[in-house]
Amino acid sequence: QARSARLYTEEDPVVILSSDSLKQTVFNSSSAWLLQFYSSWCGHCIQYSPTWKALAGDVKDWAQAIRIGVLDCAHEKNFDICKEFGIHFYPTFRYFKAHDTSNDFGKTYRGADRELQTVRQLMVNFLQNHTKHDWPVGCPPLDPARSEDILSLMGKKTEFYTAVIVEDKDSYIGREVILDLMPYEGLVVKRALSSDKLLMEKLGISSVPSAYLFYPNGKHTVMNVQKRLRFFFSSFLKLLPGVHRKQSTSSQQRPQPGNNGQGTQVEWKEFEKSKVYMADLESGLHYLLRVELATHRTLEGEELKTFKDFVTVVAKLFPGRQSVVKLLETLLEWLVSLPLEKIPYDAILDLVNNKMRISGLYLSEQVQWVGCQGSSVALRGYPCSLWTLFHVLTVQAANRPDALANTGFEDDPLAVLQTMRRYIGTFFGCQECGKHFEEMAQESLNQVKSVDDAVLWLWRKHNQVNARLTGSMSEDPMFPKTQWPTPDLCPTCHEEQEGLHVWNEQMVLAFLKQHYGASNISPKHSS
Ligand code: FAD
Repeated sequence: QARSARLYTEEDPVVILSSDSLKQTVFNSSSAWLLQFYSSWCGHCIQYSPTWKALAGDVKDWAQAIRIGVLDCAHEKNFDICKEFGIHFYPTFRYFKAHDTSNDFGKTYRGADRELQTVRQLMVNFLQNHTKHDWPVGCPPLDPARSEDILSLMGKKTEFYTAVIVEDKDSYIGREVILDLMPYEGLVVKRALSSDKLLMEKLGISSVPSAYLFYPNGKHTVMNVQKRLRFFFSSFLKLLPGVHRKQSTSSQQRPQPGNNGQGTQVEWKEFEKSKVYMADLESGLHYLLRVELATHRTLEGEELKTFKDFVTVVAKLFPGRQSVVKLLETLLEWLVSLPLEKIPYDAILDLVNNKMRISGLYLSEQVQWVGCQGSSVALRGYPCSLWTLFHVLTVQAANRPDALANTGFEDDPLAVLQTMRRYIGTFFGCQECGKHFEEMAQESLNQVKSVDDAVLWLWRKHNQVNARLTGSMSEDPMFPKTQWPTPDLCPTCHEEQEGLHVWNEQMVLAFLKQHYGASNISPKHSS
């Protein structure tokens, strides 16, 4: 395992197989499998591994239909199984149909090109080679729907949306979107062909690919996406109100939206996704200062230094209300003026709760989540506000280069990120989160050379966390983890190159600076 961990780790979206698990995993499986038998000493396998990981990430949501795995034939433990499967060259790609029996060692793919898009399309073809007898459990139909079936939906009320992707016969978008939406409930995705002239006419579609949406209330219209790309169609559908990721059995006990899990209703506040809410930032600061830090009886040594640096960065950069900024500045002055090496946390609480209040400096003690509200009290809230706070701070540091003058942080592009890293590692209540964050920081924080790089680094890492948490217990079904910003928030941030979604980072940077900029922070408690 140590060897295979060199090319693929548990963090990657691929399933790492070995002689112990190969047969029981791929034979008689409810889904199909695409495996790469590689060798950790083969140069091409090493070079190809980023493509394989990107492919596995790209089709992660297709897992109920087809899954991606790897097996390292250079690992001593796997010598015999690779021999049994007749693997002579590396890498060898093998397909295993769903419900395949152990008489078969899979079909080898020897296509000329192993580009991501080619292999992804091949996976679709391969799925369609199943018959109705061995069709992967949970995989929706991939053939074009009949026009009568689509037209009969007009004006009909149903319990779910139906989206129809209309496309040319050689296009894969429809099938890819169908598979992308497989783990979601609340909608059905179908495809239809542009050669179906009657359907095109009835739906009023003149160019393809296009998508048409039938709403549960019987309304129907052409789906309005900024770019007619797979990622835009899929993202639009995942974000429809009432469309949720199916819950895993382990999370079925989750409370329903609007209920806080103890039977009482949480008042739902309408809010705009395109805004940042001051209520979230202040509630986060309240929780951080009065709850999270208050579990530490005294602060000394590294802890005290981390706290001081945190207060410095926030006091100088937080684009908040006067009373809150002044409170943070006073707290900072007090911390700096004290020559103590050890501070009882009660003294800090006393200052924040009582002494400063007398002079009108006040941080609300009420928790009011708005953009960070969850469908139950156990979801979102504080960690959401902490991410938001640090995104705001990295953007402030980039927008106001002199703000950290005379603090010891001047000209340091890493000021906010290093402070965040130390805060998360020292005080953030979720230890596992801290461990993961530290790993990401160790891996790439040294590549950050400017304040703009810092804004983008945090965005990239937050998306990495989102990808890891997709479908996990901490995902709020009302707020599915997505790669953010979604196309509806920033269409120019998204592009496609050779069939793979790519970010336009220049546009992302401009968007982040606007979204987390001071003028986009709403003082309101609802939209
Ligand atoms: P959040 O991920 O909290 O995001 C808040 C808001 O930020 C979103 O609503 C969106 O508006 C915006 N946003 C989303 N993505 C980005 C982005 N890429 N760039 C900029 N803005 C974005 N939970 C775990 O279970 N395991 C972990 O290992 C883990 N690690 C964490 C590490 C850190 C440093 C933090 C602060 C939290 C961590 N969490 C972890 C918690 C988890 O990331 C979420 O914060 C939590 O599940 C709440 O999710 P959410 O839906 O509110 O969205």
